[in-house]
Amino acid sequence: MNHVLVWFRRDLRLADNPALLAALDEGHIPVPIYIHDEPQGSWSQGAASAWWLHHSLVALMQSLVQRGSELLIFRGDADQIIHKLLQKHDITAVYWNRCYEPEAIARDSAIKDSLQKEGVECRSFNASLLTEPWNHLKKDGTPYRVFTPFWKTLSSGIDLTFPPGPPDQLRAFSRSLQKESLAIEDLDLLPGIPWDEGFRNSWRPGEEGARQQLECFVEELLIDYPEGRDIPGTPGTSRLSPHLHFGMVTEAMHENNTAGVIKSGEAFLRELGWREFSYHLLYHFPHTPCEPLNERFAAFPWRKDFQEDLASWQRGQTGIPIVDAGMRELWVTGWMHNRVRMIVASLLTKNLLIPWQEGARWFWDTLVDADLANNTQGWQWTAGCGADAAPYFRIFNPVLQGERFDPEGDYVRKWVPELKDVPSKWIHRPWVAPLETLADASVALGDNYPNPIIDLAASRRRALDCWDRLRQRGKQHSS
Ligand code: FAD
Repeated sequence: MNHVLVWFRRDLRLADNPALLAALDEGHIPVPIYIHDEPQGSWSQGAASAWWLHHSLVALMQSLVQRGSELLIFRGDADQIIHKLLQKHDITAVYWNRCYEPEAIARDSAIKDSLQKEGVECRSFNASLLTEPWNHLKKDGTPYRVFTPFWKTLSSGIDLTFPPGPPDQLRAFSRSLQKESLAIEDLDLLPGIPWDEGFRNSWRPGEEGARQQLECFVEELLIDYPEGRDIPGTPGTSRLSPHLHFGMVTEAMHENNTAGVIKSGEAFLRELGWREFSYHLLYHFPHTPCEPLNERFAAFPWRKDFQEDLASWQRGQTGIPIVDAGMRELWVTGWMHNRVRMIVASLLTKNLLIPWQEGARWFWDTLVDADLANNTQGWQWTAGCGADAAPYFRIFNPVLQGERFDPEGDYVRKWVPELKDVPSKWIHRPWVAPLETLADASVALGDNYPNPIIDLAASRRRALDCWDRLRQRGKQHSS
């Protein structure tokens, strides 16, 4: 029996793991390894995501040990580490599941080339997408830039069979390999200062946690998902995003079908379709984490003197309740409801005219589900410069959004306790509430809760003017 390296990356699960399954099916002894080889620079791993990774690795290690194997841990350049292991040990092949971030693609291609030149078998698999981005193109062979036709053609061919479960038992690999491993703690993924209490109360990283989360969603929430997914004050979405990012769960729709709630399942599936679309865009337009897809926006007149407003937004101190609630939920739990992500992103990019890349970086550091494809797409969509984006002139009004999707203010009351006694009528716009109403609720604007840092109506007009100027410039250039 040959030893085969199974390199775990963004597929931290044993069930339905194609690389692991291939090694087992072919009768090899899998040597599960994890290499902490994160990109440096703008997209080096954020603190919240590192927290999630630590606990997921612990869970994966436990699952492997229970089955008679183990996870070997390394830190550093993946190419060098793999080559060193191959030189020292009797390993015949390397298997992994694919990643789609530009830096990961470049790294993996280089490793594959060099291994193949040396005659080492190297195989990669798809463990996280419904289809490979290079396989699903428009009839003319170019990538999709609009979601509806992308999803229409993709969703018609989805396989709804049950995925295979985890292996019951794994063969132990040679003891000499075990000596090579670091401990998970050596990766220093946990915070030095213990700020993670809110995370611990909110999440259970790992494959078992993902399975429970999925079951709970399918049994209790999926039926109402089409409407419930827009209400931030009550649980209505799956909260599977960090699990999906780290590959603890695959296409969750397998479960939907059997649940017999096809209609709700379709709405949920469509959101997974947006995830697919994001990966499609990142693969075909790898410059987009830093630059707008719509090139016209490269000349957009973003503000330059925004640090103070950016800090107020990051701290949840803008004086606009639903925005502050979202930013505080993010800080405490590492997650924010999708509707609120759109609202806070719209305020930052349109009302405050702060470049979307600033918001994307903050999300990157604070989200447990920070995901280069989804984050880039989400920010560019909201800012109006991405594929199939919300048109720039459609500017979310955070007051109306709050009144529509959080009518009783439950969400705001939870995350902005300063406002908990403000009547629902005023909770999304306390600055126009009668002074005695605020006094009764113990709110003193500018004292224990800020006045709005921006005039919503005036800043909306300013954003529209900027957009008009950009359009005029575009017309002049093309005429
Ligand atoms: P559900 O509603 O239960 O959806 C199920 C899954 O579908 C999600 O877990 C996610 O994988 C996918 N999905 C849902 N909505 C979207 C969407 N709009 N775009 C792409 N995929 C989607 N999602 C991330 O996973 N990581 C990010 O870094 C991220 N950044 C975002 C930034 C902005 C500005 C915006 C507007 C959205 C962002 N999203 C991101 C998308 C979306 O907000 C989250 O995926 C969703 O809120 C996660 O909660 P959930 O798992 O309960 O979602």
